[in-house]
Amino acid sequence: FRKIQPSATALVEGILAGNITALSRAITLVESTNNNHLSKANEVINACLPHSGKSMRIGITGVPGVGKSTFIEAFGKFLTNQGKKVAVLAVDPSSTISHGSILGDKTRMEELVKDKNAYIRPSASGETLGGVARKTRETITLCEACGFDTIIIETVGVGQSETAVHSMVDFFLLLKIAGAGDELQGIKRGIMEMADAIVINKADGDNIKKAQFAKMEFNRALHLFPAKKSGWIPKTSTCSAITQEGIPVVWEIIQKFLALTKENQSFFEKRKEQNQYWMLETINEQLKINFYNQHEIQNLLEPTKKAVQNNEISPFAAAQKLLNLYQNSKNNQQNM
Ligand code: GDP
Repeated sequence: FRKIQPSATALVEGILAGNITALSRAITLVESTNNNHLSKANEVINACLPHSGKSMRIGITGVPGVGKSTFIEAFGKFLTNQGKKVAVLAVDPSSTISHGSILGDKTRMEELVKDKNAYIRPSASGETLGGVARKTRETITLCEACGFDTIIIETVGVGQSETAVHSMVDFFLLLKIAGAGDELQGIKRGIMEMADAIVINKADGDNIKKAQFAKMEFNRALHLFPAKKSGWIPKTSTCSAITQEGIPVVWEIIQKFLALTKENQSFFEKRKEQNQYWMLETINEQLKINFYNQHEIQNLLEPTKKAVQNNEISPFAAAQKLLNLYQNSKNNQQNM
């Protein structure tokens, strides 16, 4: 017994009417690895595109345990109380391995999940981070067309996933906690450089003083980075996701960011650049997949790697050889 699948038109109509079931089904379609679903997914996305783009896209990162879910729950409730419609998405490359995402897990945001103005969707899974991220990028379009005006994208503070999320959001927030004077150690420079705000969470109880100190330290460190193209000066603040102290301040910071970057147009410029980035990323990703999946390449890759290791052939000559082989067999296919 197979359920009858709604047509692309029906899905689009549902999404534009704000129907969550239609939204969820469309996201599942976009996430599908079945090639037969690809053209229908593209049809839905293209139809949603003119109705998207009118949201604020916020990326949130931080190492596990820093309080991302708790923060998003508190922040999300704060926003829905203001009449906003909030979608929470996640980019979690580890879900690829574990086949189930911990990020965006509904049970971790109990209040928000019950909120009719919030929609929580766990990370897609996939073979590559690029693939997972691309699906999330497309899901943003669907959520926006469905009427969500604030999109929060959570990612874990490991690996390359931050870069991917940074490339799909307007505002990138780094969540930290105060340590014992070692605030700046172990932090990846690149991530701090991407941040539009650093928020020190768990500023409650005995932790308040330490959090304020950490805020000062981060503020000092942020000034050492080159100025952002947008003219925005990254801000630091403290908050407690549990007592909700400091949550409104985070929203104020984001409002200031919006005012500045919309006024000087950098908001729109960045989105244009991001669109272009995703096109090129998708091409790169697809070319790579095609290359490595090709029969001849699969046969010759390992022996060629060995030959390179043993200095029997130079890495560049070896790469050229494989690329030529790939190109020739593509040409042969076309001529058949
Ligand atoms: P995530 O792994 O970054 O999503 O972190 P969680 O949101 O799961 O939080 C990790 C732990 O920190 C949980 O036990 C939370 O209750 C706790 N926590 C989160 N935010 C705060 C906060 O503001 N203050 C305090 N005291 N604990 C917090």
